Amino acid sequence: MKKTDVNTYQHYLKVVDCQQACPAHTPVPEYIRLITQQRYSDAYMLNWQSNVFPGILGRVCDRPCEPACRRTRVEDKAVAICRLKRVTADYKEDITERLPKAPKRQNGKRIALVGAGPASLTVARDLLPLGYQIDMFERDAKAGGMMRSQIPQFRLPHDVLDEELNYILDMGVNGYFNHPIDSLENLLNKNYDAVFIGTGAPKGRHLPLPGYDDCQLDIKIGIDWLSGVSFEHISEAPKRVVVLGGGNTAMDCCRTAKRLGATDVKVLVRSSFEAMKASPWEKEDAMAEEIAIMPNHSPLEYKRNDDGSIQIAFEKVISSYDKSNNRTLTPTGEIVKVDCDLVLVAIGQDTSFPWIERDIGLKFNDWSQPILNKLTLQSTLPQVFFGGDSAFGPENIITAVAHGHKAAISIDLFCHGKQPENRPDSDFNLISQKMGMHEWRYDNQIEHHQRLAVPHIDWQQASQQLATEVELGFDEQLALQEAQRCLNCDIQTVFTESKCIECSACEDICPLDCINFIDDIHKSGDANTLLAGKLRVEKATPEQDYFISDKLHTGHIMVKDEDLCVHCGLCAERCPTGAWDMQKLILSNIEATIK
Ligand code: SF4
Ligand code: SF4
Repeated sequence: MKKTDVNTYQHYLKVVDCQQACPAHTPVPEYIRLITQQRYSDAYMLNWQSNVFPGILGRVCDRPCEPACRRTRVEDKAVAICRLKRVTADYKEDITERLPKAPKRQNGKRIALVGAGPASLTVARDLLPLGYQIDMFERDAKAGGMMRSQIPQFRLPHDVLDEELNYILDMGVNGYFNHPIDSLENLLNKNYDAVFIGTGAPKGRHLPLPGYDDCQLDIKIGIDWLSGVSFEHISEAPKRVVVLGGGNTAMDCCRTAKRLGATDVKVLVRSSFEAMKASPWEKEDAMAEEIAIMPNHSPLEYKRNDDGSIQIAFEKVISSYDKSNNRTLTPTGEIVKVDCDLVLVAIGQDTSFPWIERDIGLKFNDWSQPILNKLTLQSTLPQVFFGGDSAFGPENIITAVAHGHKAAISIDLFCHGKQPENRPDSDFNLISQKMGMHEWRYDNQIEHHQRLAVPHIDWQQASQQLATEVELGFDEQLALQEAQRCLNCDIQTVFTESKCIECSACEDICPLDCINFIDDIHKSGDANTLLAGKLRVEKATPEQDYFISDKLHTGHIMVKDEDLCVHCGLCAERCPTGAWDMQKLILSNIEATIK
């Protein structure tokens, strides 16, 4: 069989499921180990290098890393990766001296950033230390973009937000706030070397059902309403509020309405409860605050009642999914009418570029999205780059950060007359963790602890205070316990064929039965098909590759299922010749991933 190519970092990164799943490739197991050593500032800085906003993301990240976490191979729930990130921010010392500084002499290149959200801020952070002049133009009064305008303070306090934004702004950003850009052509005429557009997806979708005209005064777009609350233009909500939609914005709307005085708050959504787009923990928190979530309700019409309130008619539906996960809603004929005083529509949002002239060479596709090179984020106007939600539509903060890193590399190459497609090489290193016969530099004991819940304030108190953070975060003791659930997936099992004497000791001791010595298969083709029925455990998922060795002395091959390994190191401990070694993967220059 074809030996697995282990000369690229991709094979090893894939094994570190959480790091691979994070768009910015945060080195999760390394920062979790630093937490166990109480080296919080080091853990924070490691996060800061890749994800830029550890305190913010440690509270409000969409957590693409957690569904990937290998801990779910041995228990139900993933390591609380996100909330451990918050621990690094909560317990760090003053790290300002450790932040990079912009050089006194600039490099003569001027970059305009349109928007001051996570993508633009990441570009600024990456380019300022290289000597670029950064001019940031933002329509709002303060930086932060949707992190400030759409995420309520009870999930993301403004002091946490401001602290991490100021780390970047204080590096020397020229900020022009309350300064919307209304013409890209005019901006380009100011002769910037490059322009980065990170204006998000600021246009909330309307739901103009029959009766809308009569009721529109009391029907608000969810993100605009949240923004009004954030900037203190709105300070109260009427008694009965209905939120239409099932994503995280809907959850933020309903919980905010409760805090502004609403006593009867309902969320009605077309989809089933399980298929709602909101993160499971956001739904749990809303329900803990006694907000009714009513799935399978399809809105039909609005009606103005005689007493001035609004009635919305819904038809109950049954949602079903085909094999490709396409949803069908089947009407049941059952009509439900809900009275309320305010409707918040949170059914999605779109990008909006009325300020980009269509005759200046920047091309858009049929969906009014800019046509971009996915590798570089460069538009059809070579000096203009996009990132964050404005690039491909709404995603999340960590994806915006990944875009920011990518665009910063592209802009740096472009400004130096190089092709942005010619990306700098990534590199990797493997370092043995052996300290003796049976000792490792990492904790390889696998304790069977269930995931710990994050403490929060009393729910009754929570739903009354707009600016009080609900989650208290892990204390140091809980953080240590939760950190110990991590399996150190970056400590790789490295196999050296020439040392193996095929004694099968590793095969015997492996608790997951993931090591196999089998006859070589003299066929080419898909490894999964060729190996079917030949291994001790059938492959559980196609997500991880097999690690297939070269031919051994007897003609056998070693096949390890990377999906199953829990990095316990028993194979390396038992091996009498050191053919197995546990080696820590260190990646450098690793480029963010855009899916
Ligand atoms: S167990 Fe640890 S290293 Fe492995 S995927 Fe989960 S958080 Fe990442
Ligand atoms: S580290 Fe070795 S013994 Fe432990 S699960 Fe992985 S392959 Fe098996």
